[in-house]
Amino acid sequence: MSDQNPLFIPGPTNIPEKLRRAFDVPSMDHRSEKFAAMLKPLADGVKDVLKTRTGEVVMFPGSGTGGWEASITNTLSPGDKILSARYGMFSHRWIDLCQRHGLDVEVIEEEWGNGAPADRFEEVLTADKGHEIKAVLATHNETATGVRSDIGAIRKALDAAKHPALLFVDGVSSIASMDFRMDEWGVDLAVTGSQKGFMLPTGAAIVGVSQKALKAMETARCPRCYFDFRDMLGSNANGGYPYTPPLNILSALKVSLEMLQEEGLPNVFARHHRIAEGIRTAVGAWGLKICANNPRLYSETVTAICVPHGFDSNAVVSHAADKYGVAFGVGLGEVAGKVFRIGHLGSMTDVMALSGIAAAEMVMADLDYPIKLGSGVAAAQEYYRNTRHVGSVDATRAA
Ligand SMILES: *Cc1c(COP(=O)(O)O)cnc(C)c1O
Repeated sequence: MSDQNPLFIPGPTNIPEKLRRAFDVPSMDHRSEKFAAMLKPLADGVKDVLKTRTGEVVMFPGSGTGGWEASITNTLSPGDKILSARYGMFSHRWIDLCQRHGLDVEVIEEEWGNGAPADRFEEVLTADKGHEIKAVLATHNETATGVRSDIGAIRKALDAAKHPALLFVDGVSSIASMDFRMDEWGVDLAVTGSQKGFMLPTGAAIVGVSQKALKAMETARCPRCYFDFRDMLGSNANGGYPYTPPLNILSALKVSLEMLQEEGLPNVFARHHRIAEGIRTAVGAWGLKICANNPRLYSETVTAICVPHGFDSNAVVSHAADKYGVAFGVGLGEVAGKVFRIGHLGSMTDVMALSGIAAAEMVMADLDYPIKLGSGVAAAQEYYRNTRHVGSVDATRAA
């Protein structure tokens, strides 16, 4: 029965029944007209989610990590200098991937709990008169710490420094759950994967590519083959795919996009905000702290909760799994043992969030945390009862 419980990890996310059915499809000849007809509208749907009119979308078999690799290998050359900041496990892993590809990464170390430092980026970019830096990397939503960075501010930093570097953004745990504005923020590479905001199984790396990035591709010398944008865009233009496509994921993506569109992106974002606020309210009622250093940085898709001194957050996660069949996220890297994470992205409702809060409370009470059973649930209930739910069941019925 425990597989009835929702997951509270920040990806892979809960898969709505409608999507579970959507990827149960028979095999199809990927050189057929039928496949071309299925593939064609997908890129446009993803462009709507990314808010780009001028960019292209490529979808590779893979996951978010494959999207990182595709982004850098298609647009950069070995030895190229890039600028990034490390403020959590995901920003760290992307930096590591770049270094392994022979890129020269200037890393700004930030406290875990902070976001990408637009002001420091501006200083470094302003000082780079010769425009040695070819790209700036930022993780929009650092899933390890539950921190959202201000990508618009990074664009302003690049503009203020009059610097031509490409802007690469990891949107793996934000895209399709939190507002993302590829064109407005001048994002050149936007990376996500199928198993987070799109509520699908893992299997596709989804990347938005600007025209400027496509131009950089012409001279980029990093080796690439499987993840070559040219092969993918060239085949896609004729309704084809350069190799065997992840058919199930692509056909279910169509339904995922329809679901997002039906709810309406502003409602999707508002729902994530509400659910997140309810969870944060519960954390406050427990007397615990959130890892993100200030409310401006709060993620709408994952909350990292600091456990009191002397407690091991890994025990929360293992006890929740063993006793209640509920999955929370562990702390990663520097915050291992210090935080546990409640993932609240994708297919999630207020009521599901309440069950996660209740489960976390039982776990903490079992482990002798100084919290009062019901305190977080009650606080979240009050919040959910008293705030307007855009796109609620009632509102849907009325429509
Ligand atoms: C999940 C995640 C990734 C890694 O993606 P995979 O699909 O596991 O390869 C990268 N960045 C962020 C911010 C993530 O949340």
